[in-house]
Amino acid sequence: MKINLIETGQFRLDGGAMFGVVPKTLWERAYDPGDDKNRIPLQARILLIQTGNKNILIDTGNGTKFDEKKKSIYDINFETSLPNNFLAPYGLRPDQITDVILTHLHFDHCGGATHIENGKVVPSFPNAKYYVQREQYNHALNPTMKDTASYFQENYVPLKENGMLELLDGDGEILTGVSAITVDGHTPKMQMIKINDGVNTFLYIADLIPTSAHIPLPYILAYDNYPLTTLKEKGKLLPIIVENNWTVIFEHDNFVPAGKIIYDETKRTYKLGEKQTL
Ligand SMILES: [Zn+2]
Repeated sequence: MKINLIETGQFRLDGGAMFGVVPKTLWERAYDPGDDKNRIPLQARILLIQTGNKNILIDTGNGTKFDEKKKSIYDINFETSLPNNFLAPYGLRPDQITDVILTHLHFDHCGGATHIENGKVVPSFPNAKYYVQREQYNHALNPTMKDTASYFQENYVPLKENGMLELLDGDGEILTGVSAITVDGHTPKMQMIKINDGVNTFLYIADLIPTSAHIPLPYILAYDNYPLTTLKEKGKLLPIIVENNWTVIFEHDNFVPAGKIIYDETKRTYKLGEKQTL
């Protein structure tokens, strides 16, 4: 099994929204302080897992279905977000992708799942089976007023209409060596993806810990629907990550793609250990 990290492009979100109740005087020591609009640079980092005759994607980046206004609000690069372009270095075309696992249906995770062709929204990976948790899909059809701005129906409804979407029910193995661990604080049934390549274990942690600056317990996104649930979920998961020496992959960190997490006994906090590039 070969795991490749693919950067589908930098985009920007509000720094305050990304760090919740943590004041900027603290988070700007841990991450880029942002531009003149207080937007911090984030990466839409996805995974390409090549195993046997399968080419599996985990998440798809922002995609290219934004009008000019949204494109400029989020500072999205269409060139790097195009599947043809980000797959080319691996000698692959979109029609060679066999499986696409979506952690959840916020646009920065599944925007690339579909694209516009001859004025119609179509699946970007025509031969793939797509996977998402059933509860997340149902939530995405009817989001809360708090998170409705992150859900665009054209990113996932066409997958269902084309019979390409498999809805999952809870934790467990999705494909050989690739399993789901679900959490509910960010949005109902977001699935983090645990990958075992036979030697090491990797955790693609999605928006539970979007950047390495979000490792300490109170660093929680203001976007989260249920921040206290997120706090509990981080409290439960971090010791397991440390104990088992898993490599964590940070989907949105513009500077640190992956690394180990350690517990600092003196400061009584979890923090980034050794950085990794895979
Ligand atoms: Zn999200």
